[in-house]
Amino acid sequence: MFIQFKTVSKLNQLVNTMSKLCFDERVVVVTGAGAGLGKAYALLFASKGAKVVVNDLGSSRHGDGASRVADTVVSEIKSQGGQAVANYDNVLDGDKIIKTAIDNFGRIDVLVNNAGILRDKSFARMSEDDWDIIQNVHVKGAMRATKAAWPYFKQQKYGRIIFTSSNSGLYGNFGQANYSSAKMALVGLANTLAIEGQSSGINTNVIVPTAGSRLTEDIVPADFYNQLKPELIAPVVAWLCHEDCTENGSIIESALGWAGKCHLIRSNGSILRKSLKDSLTPETVRDNWDQVTDMSTAKRCESIAEATGELMNVIEQLSSSKTSDSSSSRSFDPKYTIKYTYDVKDAILYALGVGATTKNPDDFQYLYENHENFSVVPSYFVIFGPLGALGSDMLVTALPNLGEINIAGILHGEQYLKVLKKIPTEANVETRFRIQETLDKEKMAVILIEHETIDVKSGEKLAVGQMAGVIKGAGGFGGPRNSDHEVPLIDAPKRNPDISVTQQTCVDQAAIYRLASGDMNPLHIDANISVMGGFERPILHGLCSLGFATRHILQTFARGDTELFDCVKARFVKPVIPGQTLRTDMWREGKRIHFQTIVVENNSPVISGAYIDLKDVKLGNQTSKL
Ligand code: NAD
Repeated sequence: MFIQFKTVSKLNQLVNTMSKLCFDERVVVVTGAGAGLGKAYALLFASKGAKVVVNDLGSSRHGDGASRVADTVVSEIKSQGGQAVANYDNVLDGDKIIKTAIDNFGRIDVLVNNAGILRDKSFARMSEDDWDIIQNVHVKGAMRATKAAWPYFKQQKYGRIIFTSSNSGLYGNFGQANYSSAKMALVGLANTLAIEGQSSGINTNVIVPTAGSRLTEDIVPADFYNQLKPELIAPVVAWLCHEDCTENGSIIESALGWAGKCHLIRSNGSILRKSLKDSLTPETVRDNWDQVTDMSTAKRCESIAEATGELMNVIEQLSSSKTSDSSSSRSFDPKYTIKYTYDVKDAILYALGVGATTKNPDDFQYLYENHENFSVVPSYFVIFGPLGALGSDMLVTALPNLGEINIAGILHGEQYLKVLKKIPTEANVETRFRIQETLDKEKMAVILIEHETIDVKSGEKLAVGQMAGVIKGAGGFGGPRNSDHEVPLIDAPKRNPDISVTQQTCVDQAAIYRLASGDMNPLHIDANISVMGGFERPILHGLCSLGFATRHILQTFARGDTELFDCVKARFVKPVIPGQTLRTDMWREGKRIHFQTIVVENNSPVISGAYIDLKDVKLGNQTSKL
C-alpha cells in the first residue's frame, strides 16, 4: 500500500465562497490555539461568528512548562468583536476543555485537535520518555478531548472533528519515529470515528498541514517559511468543519493556499498459490514479487468491506482453480454439458421474464434490438446452471442413496455468477457442470454445482458460476457440513438501505420466466406439484427475482451499463408468488452493492446475504451522494 494525492483544484473557488459561510451559534474548541496553526483557526472561526474555546497549555516546543498564551488570542478575538474564552488545560485533561465550552457556551459543535509538540531524535537515541510524551500529547490528548465531546455530538446528532496529522506520519521522516507514529495513529482513529459517527451526523477528517510555526522555524529555509502562512490553511479547516461540508473520513493535505486529498491505495496484487489446498513457499512469494508490488493498476478500497470483499474473490478463484485441476475426478463430465443457441429474441424474452417493461425507459436497451446500447441483462447466464443440473441425473449421482428424487423438494438455495466477457446478444454456447461437493445440513442436502459457459465459436469462457441445490429431507447421510468450495454470502451493512427500488411482478411472471429461462420445473406453474413441494401456489423462480434485482442495481449504480457487471451472489430464502411486489434494498460499499429483496405485501425477505460487484460505479442525479 502507499499514499496517493488528488489535487483539489477548486481551492480558489472555495475561498471565494467563504464569505457566505458562517458559524453563528456554533461553538468551536481548538486545542493548542495559543500560537501557530491553532491561533489562525481560532481567529478565523471567531471572525465567522463562532464562539471559540481557545485551549493552550502554553508549553515549550518540547512540551515543558506552561503559560497563559491563550489569553493573547482571546483578547485579539474580543478586540475584533468576537466571542472567545481561554482554557489552559493540558489536552490530556480533554474533559476539562470540553467542560469549558459547555459551561461558557452551553454546547459544542466543532473540535479541532491541534495541540502538538516535538521531541525529535534518531530512533537509536530516542528514550521511552521521548516516545511517551509525544504519544500522549498527540494521540491520547486528541482521544481524550474527542471522547469528552463525543456524547454531546451523538446527542445533538451533529459534530465536526479534525485530527491533525503530518507528512512525517504519511511518509516518514528521519528523527521523528515517535512523532510520525503518533501522527499516523490519528489517521486510524479518524478512519474509525468517521464510520462510528456517520449515522449521528458527526464528520471526522484529518488535516495534514505544512505551516511556518515554531515547530518548523529551524527546519525550513527562511524564504519558504515566510510563505507557509497558517492563515492559508485555516480556511480549509474551517470548510471541513462547516455544516455544509459533507466530507467524512478524509485526509486533506494543505499548505500555501493549496489543498489535496490523500488516501491509501492497494495494488492488484497476485494470487500466490493455485488452490485452497496448496501451501505457499517464500520462493513463490519471491518469484511473484514484481506483480505483488506493481502499483500501475493500484486502486483505493473505499471501506474495510470492499478490502476484505476482494479477499473473498481470492477464495473464489482459489476454489475454482482447485476444481480446474487436471485430475480426471475433477474435470467436467461431457455427460453434464448443455449446448444452447440463443439470439436477440431469447435475450429480449429473458429481459421480459425479469421484469423489463416498456413503461420504464431505462429498460429499452434490454427490449429493443435496434437500441444503440442493446444488451443482455447479465444475469442471463444464470439460467444455464439450473437448466443443466435439473435436466440431468446429476443430483442422483451426487446422492446415490437418495433413490428417486422428489422434484418438488429440490430448491435452488444459492447462486453465484461471474461474467468474464461481455455477454453476446446472440451466441452458440456450451455450459458444463460438475458437482463440487455434497453437503449434509442435517435436514437437507446441499449440492454445490459449478458451471462454466463457453462461446462455442470463439472458445472463450463467458461466465463461471456456482449453484447450491437444496434437497429438503435428504440430509443426515454423514457428509461434510461445510466446504471451502462454497462462495460465501456477505451480510449487508447494519444501516438503513442507501436506496431501494420497488417493482410489482405480473401474475404471469413465472409463466413467462419458464419460457425465457428454459427452466420448465412444474413447481412454477402446476398447482399440484407446488402443493407437493409445500407451497400453496406455484412460485416464482428465485433466479427471476435475482434478475429483477440485477436490473434495479445496474440502473441505480451503473446507469444500466451491463458491461460494468462483474459478479453476483445471492441466497434465495423464501418464495415469491407471481403478482407480488419486489423491493430491492441496496447498500453501496465502493464497487460492491449489497442487496436484499423484500416482498412488499408481507415484508418478507426473499433474497438475502447478496451482493453484486460492479467493475465501476456510474451514479446518476438520484444517486450522486451514494
Ligand atoms: P505550535 O507549536 O506553533 O502550536 C502548538 C500549540 O500547542 C502551542 O501553542 C502549544 O503550547 C500547544 N500545546 C502543546 N502541547 C499541549 C498540550 N499538551 N495541551 C494543550 N496545548 C498544548 O505548532 P504548530 O505548527 O501550529 O502545530 C499545530 C499542530 O500541527 C501540531 O499538532 C503539529 O504537530 C501539527 N503539524 C504542524 C506542521 C507544521 O508545518 N507547522 C506540520 C504537520 C503537523
